Amino acid sequence: MSRVRLHDKEFEPFIPVAEMEAAIQQVAQDITRKYADKRPLFLGVLNGSFFFAAELLKRLPIECEISFVKVASYHGTRSTGTVSQLIGLNEKIEGRHVVVLEDIVDTGHTIRHIMDILAERHPASISIATLLFKPDAYKQDITIDHVALRIPNAFVVGSGLDHDGLGRNLPGIFKIVEG
Ligand code: 5GP
Repeated sequence: MSRVRLHDKEFEPFIPVAEMEAAIQQVAQDITRKYADKRPLFLGVLNGSFFFAAELLKRLPIECEISFVKVASYHGTRSTGTVSQLIGLNEKIEGRHVVVLEDIVDTGHTIRHIMDILAERHPASISIATLLFKPDAYKQDITIDHVALRIPNAFVVGSGLDHDGLGRNLPGIFKIVEG
């Protein structure tokens, strides 16, 4: 694989498909062990998680369900700050074992909002699984239970992740070329 150009930026190959698949397989094994008899409900956060969701679920030999949600953020009043809503959450999650699927956790703001909204609906448990995690950028104290790949604090695309709409279809992960 060689460099690709998306809009105004160059990206270079960073994590090959085989390495990513092995990491997803490891997460699948951990989740299989943990949720074998719990019929978990996976909630994929769109748009980016579609790839990870498919790759993970095809490796799970357990009874499970999946649905997808979208986070919509808007600026409320000065006292409420940024308000987030989960669009598309039609399932009753009370008493369910919920696993949130993310493409990437960076500062953790998005996952914080999602966890707050889900907790209000009283699931039996909530955990988080993400394809990519940037530990150096993370600012929350919520444990990210299942991480396929830890990466340094650089902008990446591919496997569901985009740069201004492009690059979600690239196989593996590509990293921005600085300068
Ligand atoms: P947060 O900072 O709330 O954890 O992440 C917010 C969002 O920023 C992510 O869901 C993702 O859409 C985007 N994001 C963060 N880091 C990257 C990155 O390296 N590449 C891409 N494509 N998106 C990112």
